[in-house]
Amino acid sequence: MDCIFCKIANKEITGDLVYEDDDIVVFKDINPIAPVHLLVIPRQHISSILEIDIIEDKLIAGIFKVISKVAKEMKIDEGFRVVTNTGDGAGQSVEHLHFHILGGRKFHWPPG
Ligand code: 5GP
Ligand code: ZN
Repeated sequence: MDCIFCKIANKEITGDLVYEDDDIVVFKDINPIAPVHLLVIPRQHISSILEIDIIEDKLIAGIFKVISKVAKEMKIDEGFRVVTNTGDGAGQSVEHLHFHILGGRKFHWPPG
């Protein structure tokens, strides 16, 4: 499968990894829109949150625990945002489930 995030997870192409374990990888976004802009992915390929039923509950929980851990480590816990763009209407550009962690600046609501 020709998936850029699978390749980063498998180290077929270089990604700026900040965390990895057997199931989850976190790396820096190549085109950051905030001082801290990380992407959290399961190693298992699913195309979006619409396929979340395919992955084990333990892995879903693990993703959110990793998000919390990384946010604390990056010292953005005063204010950060977790985003998963889904589908064309929300601007999803890579079809491998990923959660953006955005931090280090002020965020507005609603996001637009
Ligand atoms: P989406 O638009 O699907 O919500 O987010 C995809 C994100 O992946 C974008 O923010 C984009 O900058 C990032 N991205 C795309 N290709 C690469 C890549 O090859 N390496 C890294 N580190 N990030 C990428
Ligand atoms: Zn993939």
